[in-house]
Amino acid sequence: MIASIVAVGDELLIGQVVNTNASWLGERLTALGWTVHEQRVVGDDEAQLVEVFKQVSHRSNLTVICGGLGPTHDDRTRSAIASAFDAPLVFDNETWSTIQERFARRKRQAAPTNRVQAYVPTGWRTISNAHGTAPGLSFEERHSDDSIRLLVVLPGVPFELKAMWTSVVEPHLLASIPTPAIVQKTILTAGIGESDLQVVLDGLEALVSNEVTLAFLPGTQGVRLRLTGRGESTDAAEQSVASLSAFIHSRARKFIYSEVAGDSLAAHVGRSLLHHGQTIALAESCTGGGISSALTDIPGASAYVIGAVVAYCNSVKHQFLEVNSVDLDRHGAVSEPVAIQMAQSIRRQFDTTLGLSVTGIMGPGGGTPDKPVGTIWLALAYDGGYQTKLLHLAHDRQTSKEITIAAALNLVRTYLDGLTNEVYQMSASTSRASDPNR
Ligand code: ATP
Ligand code: MG
Repeated sequence: MIASIVAVGDELLIGQVVNTNASWLGERLTALGWTVHEQRVVGDDEAQLVEVFKQVSHRSNLTVICGGLGPTHDDRTRSAIASAFDAPLVFDNETWSTIQERFARRKRQAAPTNRVQAYVPTGWRTISNAHGTAPGLSFEERHSDDSIRLLVVLPGVPFELKAMWTSVVEPHLLASIPTPAIVQKTILTAGIGESDLQVVLDGLEALVSNEVTLAFLPGTQGVRLRLTGRGESTDAAEQSVASLSAFIHSRARKFIYSEVAGDSLAAHVGRSLLHHGQTIALAESCTGGGISSALTDIPGASAYVIGAVVAYCNSVKHQFLEVNSVDLDRHGAVSEPVAIQMAQSIRRQFDTTLGLSVTGIMGPGGGTPDKPVGTIWLALAYDGGYQTKLLHLAHDRQTSKEITIAAALNLVRTYLDGLTNEVYQMSASTSRASDPNR
């Protein structure tokens, strides 16, 4: 079943209003088993609206149109519907009474301009709007071959649209139009870019099909993989998703940290610190406290975040983090030895099991030929050792900060995952040793 969305309004075209209605409707329709084929944005131009309404509805079983139902001169959706579908507007007394009652409840009188909203295209129905004056409109046509054409028109105001969609449109779709079962799953990865992940998942093409599709959604925290399965039944859709998911796990296990949509790397690291009984202290230079902020955004962080020092200036690195001034002079603040000393010092001073540090050049200024903007050193100090990581970023300051924070959290994640593996190996060998049957 094919669905399309048309959003109406000059304000959307010029970027003044973000088209959140389309993304919200797209998500809802997909969850209901509809295949969303296209989303269009059209300005307040009647001729263009007529053309797009005809085009889009011709190739869709369901066309959802939003916006331009108001009473003002720039609200052209109603008259464009009438022209596009040859359905002259007729004044509807009942709709007019409803609009007047709505005004009366707020001790106001409907303006003559509101009468426009009581005109309904011939053969169409209205959808009541509990939160605003503009009623929605709908038209349904079932053909002899059982195919369906449904048009739904909703106001542009997001909360009105959402309320009408959930209370009227969605129940109607569910009750009267069969769609395939849909199962979605999100796999969150960190520490690997989109193209490298594609290489790791080589062979994937053979597994994706009409029954199961995969989308790569990169962000500064990592790449989100979204698997969508479709089938006759939920079981069948789940099965398709499960086999693709198993393939992804077999290839990319070490990059996967969660399968909960909306989870964050910081939340995962928090759970992992708690699980392993670890505590952490942070020494941040170029992230300015961003790593601490990400970790302390998670409720319950006081169980493992002990404290932090933002050591932006060299004198602070030397005075408060005991970084050797000879090393600062010889290697510079953005160097591996300085990052290691920062991490070890904060760990020692705050008496934590882990010390995490970052020092780097975020730009746009401050780069040199051998240390260009985007050179970042991270260090993680722990009992008996440390790990470091060098990043070379080429982004704007804000994006580089976000990527650095994610890379720092990922350093902790991989270290803690290593502990899990060690424990696993230890317990595996213990159970072998103690098993008398072996
Ligand atoms: P009204 O009766 O309130 O005029 P309407 O159907 O005419 O309803 P519009 O005038 O198109 O709706 O939009 C009203 C407001 O809703 C806009 O100012 C804008 O803030 C918001 N809006 C419109 N379209 C969208 C959209 N696609 N996504 C998000 N917000 C939108
Ligand atoms: Mg309007």
